[in-house]
Amino acid sequence: MLIHTIEEVREQIKNWKKQGLSIGLVPTMGALHDGHLSLIKKSVEKCDKTVVSVFVNPIQFGPSEDFDKYPRTLEADEKLCSDAGVDIIFAPSPKEMYGEGHLLSNDFLTYVIPPFFYVNKLCGKSRVGHFDGVCTVVNKLFNIVQPDFAFFGEKDRQQLIILKKMVKDLNIPVTIIPCPIVREESGLALSSRNKYLDENSKKDALALNKILFNIKLCYDKGITDVRALSETAYSFLNSNHSLEYLEFRDKDTLEDKEKADDDTIVFIAVKVGGVRLIDNIALG
Ligand code: AMP
Repeated sequence: MLIHTIEEVREQIKNWKKQGLSIGLVPTMGALHDGHLSLIKKSVEKCDKTVVSVFVNPIQFGPSEDFDKYPRTLEADEKLCSDAGVDIIFAPSPKEMYGEGHLLSNDFLTYVIPPFFYVNKLCGKSRVGHFDGVCTVVNKLFNIVQPDFAFFGEKDRQQLIILKKMVKDLNIPVTIIPCPIVREESGLALSSRNKYLDENSKKDALALNKILFNIKLCYDKGITDVRALSETAYSFLNSNHSLEYLEFRDKDTLEDKEKADDDTIVFIAVKVGGVRLIDNIALG
């Protein structure tokens, strides 16, 4: 069932709650692919009812980012969801979520701001305000849908860590279920933004997962020095790549690691032919 308004979702949720049914939420920005589908399948399996939100959230995009050209494929998304047994696709308009505008009016003024320590690094460093937008919209979705479980991909690992912290700090009554990264056979992590890649860049995009899997291989052989591990990356990069970051951080606190260990996540962001891609791997 495709629903565009908060009121209608609330009505449906109220009925389900009265019946004591458990509710799973899968927040997405649409252009659904097998990565999203893996989260949806988990929710359908675990929960009595599953809500998938499809919302390209304007407040998590910077002024020079791809909000306008972000792929929007609601019809195909609807089909994928109904085939997967989703009960509600919630696809609100920006106006439904933020009124006349988050910048232009008083309709929307209250943000959830995650701790600086978690956002002043990795993607938060180049995407200033991005995680404020993410935490705010996810909070709103939690309040609208009141899910028992919410499913998030490890593909966006910094987001997942920040959202876990938000849920804990604000005592939000939801259990976050992390879901592993789904990759193409080539190793490329699925992403809606892969649609921007031309044929050459798609080949070059493989560098991200090659770098990460090679670092994991070296770690498994006993190398723990972060500098030595980082240096292995350069042989995979060419002039079509612009490395934004390659960092070794703690899986829960995002603190910098000087020596790699089993609690380390390696994070990478690279622009490939102008398209910004991210990936990560757990060494443990
Ligand atoms: P997005 O539509 O990009 O905001 O993603 C919605 C959710 O799907 C987020 O929790 C993502 O982490 C997750 N997701 C996106 N791509 C993948 C992937 N390749 N594997 C697993 N989860 C993913």
